[in-house]
Amino acid sequence: MTETIELALKALEAQLNQPLETALEACARCGICAEACHYYRAEPRVEHIPAHRAEQLRSVYRYEHDFLSRMFPVWTRAEKLDETTLANLTEIAFSQCTLCRRCTVNCPLGVDTPLMMRAIRAMATAAGTAPEILVMLADAAIEKGNDPSFYKEMFLEQIADMEKQLREITGDENAGIPVEKQGAKILYVPLAGAHTILPPAVVFNAAKEDWTLSIFEASNYGVFLADVNRARQVAKRIVDEANRLGVKEIVISECGHAYACYRWDVPNWFAGRFDFKVRSLIEVLAEYIAEGKIKVDPTGIPESVTYHDSCNLARNGGLLEEPRYVLKNIVGDFREMTPNKAGALSLRRRRRDRCARRICRTKNRRRQTQGGPNQKHRCAGGRCCVRELPPADRRPERALQLERPCYRTDGSGRPRDAAAQTPARGGGGASFRRGTGWNSKDLGRV
Ligand code: SF4
Ligand code: SF4
Repeated sequence: MTETIELALKALEAQLNQPLETALEACARCGICAEACHYYRAEPRVEHIPAHRAEQLRSVYRYEHDFLSRMFPVWTRAEKLDETTLANLTEIAFSQCTLCRRCTVNCPLGVDTPLMMRAIRAMATAAGTAPEILVMLADAAIEKGNDPSFYKEMFLEQIADMEKQLREITGDENAGIPVEKQGAKILYVPLAGAHTILPPAVVFNAAKEDWTLSIFEASNYGVFLADVNRARQVAKRIVDEANRLGVKEIVISECGHAYACYRWDVPNWFAGRFDFKVRSLIEVLAEYIAEGKIKVDPTGIPESVTYHDSCNLARNGGLLEEPRYVLKNIVGDFREMTPNKAGALSLRRRRRDRCARRICRTKNRRRQTQGGPNQKHRCAGGRCCVRELPPADRRPERALQLERPCYRTDGSGRPRDAAAQTPARGGGGASFRRGTGWNSKDLGRV
């Protein structure tokens, strides 16, 4: 056994826990999940059936954990892990699954296929076969956290330039972008780039919020790698900053996976050191509008606009109504798409892949026939979706910023597309929903 295979198998063993073992043992091979997967919908091939993907890991698991399979692998279709199998698994987990969870919520047994894909990603990362760019980005973020002084001066200069723009935009000489403000109520964590700093700064200033800007960005490439050690180290930067400044709340910018990471994983990773409320920026915007803290013009955008939900914010985070509430308050003609699902994260990295192109084309057709000229995306993953659009629709004035995933009913209470039903996991936005009439019945229907 080579060292690479040894490392991969060690990572698999380290991942094994009750949820993963259940997923590995529980599939009924009914195939219902096939129609739920956007890869299969775009290209109906057996390799695109979620259960088939999972089966590749199951055969390795069987070989390692079942005596009969080890003795007679042909009988049980068990497979000894070798370099070729590992390369195939890596391709499946990083290039053929976006971890969108559609298959899981449509599976009658609730088989967690994305959990198995994560296990494969962890195996590949440990064995050194994961995409190099993700490893480099995660390591760079960790390095940055170890010594922020290396880039802090340049960062503060950029923020000073942005403050000038902010004052021009708002006409308020006192408008500012506070950094490292001790005792602020909100720590706002942006992505890299002014596009996630300046617009929220306008809103925070208009709402007279007590906020401060994080010196780190929200992205966590350790999560993409399913490498908990790296992911924890990247997240630790924000946890330490929030504790150091004594904030009450962490607000995550548009990034869907960052929201999921800080909302669901980080509190477990840093139990006892993480006593913060975590919200997405979209929840804060909706609250400001609902409470009259900011005034918006409902006729400000006269063009028709549709919304494309994000996997992590909607399906995994329950943020369904907030983006719609914001949109309905700022656009004159808001239209729902059906079905309306996200899951394109990382498709942009594979634009040359034929299946990825088909998924993109399907979405574009839906947008053009149902949604009107503008499509709003919510998460940064939505920016991946943005790149699926024809170049003419990527213009800044078309401001593709918000998104909702999908699966609304036709008004009769019955889903239009049964395969696309997605009971969102509870959590985010619950208090806002109480105020706007959104209830658990609605969540069950989407
Ligand atoms: S729907 Fe669930 S039980 Fe059926 S094949 Fe897919 S993963 Fe297995
Ligand atoms: S998580 Fe999404 S992309 Fe992956 S197998 Fe399931 S439905 Fe397909």
